[in-house]
Amino acid sequence: MIPLALTANDAVLAVIVAAFAALLVAAGLRVLRKKKDEAPEAPVTDAEIERELEGKTEAPKAKGKAKPTSPQPTTPSVGPAEPGQSRGAPTPTSTATSVPAPVPDAAAEAARRAEEARVAAEAAARKAKEEADEEAKKAAYRAKKEADRLEKEQKQREREAAEQRAREEAARAAAEAEAARQAELEAQRKKAAAEAGKTLAAGLEKTRGGFMSRLNALLGGSKQLDESVLADLEEVLFTADIGVKTATRLLETVREKVRAKALSDPDKVKAALRAEIARILALDGVEVRPFQPGAERPWVVMVVGVNGSGKTTTIGKLAAKLKGQGHQVLLGAGDTFRAAAGEQLEIWAERVQAPVVRGKDGADPASVCFEAVQQGVATKADVVICDTAGRLHTKAPLMEELKKVKRVIAKAAPGAPHEVLLVLDSTSGQNAIQQARQFHEALQVTGLALTKLDGTAKGGVVIGITDELKLPVRWVGVGETVADLRPFQPAEFVEALFE
Ligand code: GDP
Ligand code: GDP
Ligand code: MG
Repeated sequence: MIPLALTANDAVLAVIVAAFAALLVAAGLRVLRKKKDEAPEAPVTDAEIERELEGKTEAPKAKGKAKPTSPQPTTPSVGPAEPGQSRGAPTPTSTATSVPAPVPDAAAEAARRAEEARVAAEAAARKAKEEADEEAKKAAYRAKKEADRLEKEQKQREREAAEQRAREEAARAAAEAEAARQAELEAQRKKAAAEAGKTLAAGLEKTRGGFMSRLNALLGGSKQLDESVLADLEEVLFTADIGVKTATRLLETVREKVRAKALSDPDKVKAALRAEIARILALDGVEVRPFQPGAERPWVVMVVGVNGSGKTTTIGKLAAKLKGQGHQVLLGAGDTFRAAAGEQLEIWAERVQAPVVRGKDGADPASVCFEAVQQGVATKADVVICDTAGRLHTKAPLMEELKKVKRVIAKAAPGAPHEVLLVLDSTSGQNAIQQARQFHEALQVTGLALTKLDGTAKGGVVIGITDELKLPVRWVGVGETVADLRPFQPAEFVEALFE
């Protein structure tokens, strides 16, 4: 009935309606496309995107899974539409389009196509939106990844900077510790140097500048060795405070070697002199024992010498050294002639924490020394050192007094004194050789201490005394401190003189 009622006008109207519908569909499509562009992100997880971006082999699978959900509404609506028309399947779409137009005509066809176009457009729009969503998510994911990477980089930079700072801090601390260690070492070295006192070479500086420098001037260089050199050598040796006897011995040694053609140049003369001096100081190899308390207890040292030679000072330094070695030391203030002498010894005794036996001023020095040794025996001291007076040695009573002191000491301890130490002031030069001879005659001196070498150019006296008296030099004094009393070692002494 309806098809019958259709007129040409109606047909035209239908075409217009269909065209209008198509226009509407097209407009809708544009709107959808626009929306797709602005589409907000759908919540696809990072994991999914990660899988898709990174798992290239899984990508097709992921798409395959995603596809069925999106094409489903499209395919059945478009696909069955075709067979629906021929088979008359009762889908709403086919019914809607086929019912009003069971007979295909232009308008129905146009409407159907418009509908199809709309559906297709909808599907395309959905697909486009999904793709856009996916793209947006990927972009977001990439952005997030980039942000993560940047953050990681920033953290890495910060970590590196912190590590660098820590390294610099450690290096600075190490440098500070090293500086402190060096300062400590330097302080220790200075302390050790102060404790070690002057070097022997420094203590012998004046002597080195005196006769040794004249000897060096004469025998240094490449001079021709002739009679004039030997004449000059004679003069140097005889004015060198080594004594006539020793000067003669040295000169004879050189002349003999020159005659035997064993010495050809001045340098060799110097070497020969040095060897001969070393032999003299080492007492021709007879005695080179360093100063040491012997086995006897107490080991008694009687110190003698003229006034001001350095007896009391040497006793103080010696006591300090022996105490430092762990010996129990007792001092006897045997110089009762001068009141100040007893006080001076007491000061040293207090300084080194050693007991001192002191008599009344003017008391018999022998009785003071007797008491000191007796007390040393009673207290089991290791070493007793007795000071004595030193009026001029040329006065017979002094020598007699000292002999008595020595006798009485032996009464207090059989075998004592074990050492009679003669203290000589080396500044007195050849005079010291004279003193030594007289003291040795009266008291059988067993060892020498030569003081004040630092204050004189007459250090050659050590060679002369040793050569003439054949007595061992035990100590040399090169200054006022304990460390400046040095055990005498011939080789060291020769080296200090010649180097
Ligand atoms: P004593 O009279 O024999 O007891 O002599 P002292 O022991 O009182 O010393 C006399 C002076 O010589 C003191 O001023 C000591 O300090 C000084 N003296 C002692 N030995 C040395 C030394 O080796 N070098 C220097 N420069 N002075 C010394
Ligand atoms: P000499 O001069 O050789 O006859 O020696 P002495 O035996 O007479 O003694 C001289 C001094 O040494 C005496 O005046 C005493 O002061 C001292 N002396 C000797 N023996 C003893 C002693 O047993 N005890 C004490 N305290 N002093 C003594
Ligand atoms: Mg004295």
